[in-house]
Amino acid sequence: MGDDFKSRLDDVRARIERAARRAGRDPGCVTLVAVSKSVPVERLREAATCGCRVFGENRVQEADVKMEALNGYPGLEWHLIGPLQMNKIKAAVGRFALLHAVDRLEVAERLDRAARERGLTQAILLEVNVAGEKTKHGFTPDELARVTERMGALKGIRVLGLMAIPPAAGAPEKARPHFRRLRMLAAEAQALKIPGVTMRELSMGMSGDFEVAVEEGATLVRIGTALFGPRPVG
Ligand SMILES: *Cc1c(COP(=O)(O)O)cnc(C)c1O
Repeated sequence: MGDDFKSRLDDVRARIERAARRAGRDPGCVTLVAVSKSVPVERLREAATCGCRVFGENRVQEADVKMEALNGYPGLEWHLIGPLQMNKIKAAVGRFALLHAVDRLEVAERLDRAARERGLTQAILLEVNVAGEKTKHGFTPDELARVTERMGALKGIRVLGLMAIPPAAGAPEKARPHFRRLRMLAAEAQALKIPGVTMRELSMGMSGDFEVAVEEGATLVRIGTALFGPRPVG
């Protein structure tokens, strides 16, 4: 692995492709979300020049600055991968192609209202606390069917799938059961055939475990460190 961005990108892409092929999946169905939180704009420009098209940020304000700075690059897509605070809802609606981490019904309801006021539909994913960790955000697997049904009635939002962050584990294999669980939960929710809800996206897998996630069906992998190197602490 080289130490320039292009060779890291090539490496990550090759690993995604191999993981997809191992699972008999089309690698074209996996979108690389380059997680650029805390990465300075010059490095995002380099990433965009190398062909990165989808960037993931976890703060609305930081994302705003970067969108401005990179607006000369055509075809970029911005995703919010972190949880959305109530006071940022209006600022986020319509700004991001996808919100990965909607974790409360109240957030979805506010998003719905803000989106309808602006005459648009906001695409979202529901974050699921797959391992039932006390410290983690997300819906419990048990409440997923009920909340998904409620959200189907909200015309300002469109639920496109699920997202999860499994417990931090040393070995990537440890995450596999959680990824598999998320895929099954999405299939169960899909089977409810709720109008306006399509469970086609699975946002799962980060630098340490994305190959396992791709093997288990990820359609969006959120990768920061493996592309940009370690982030400054704090
Ligand atoms: C920071 C972050 C990532 C990227 O993590 P890496 O381990 O650096 O790849 C992915 N998803 C979320 C929600 C994050 O906050």
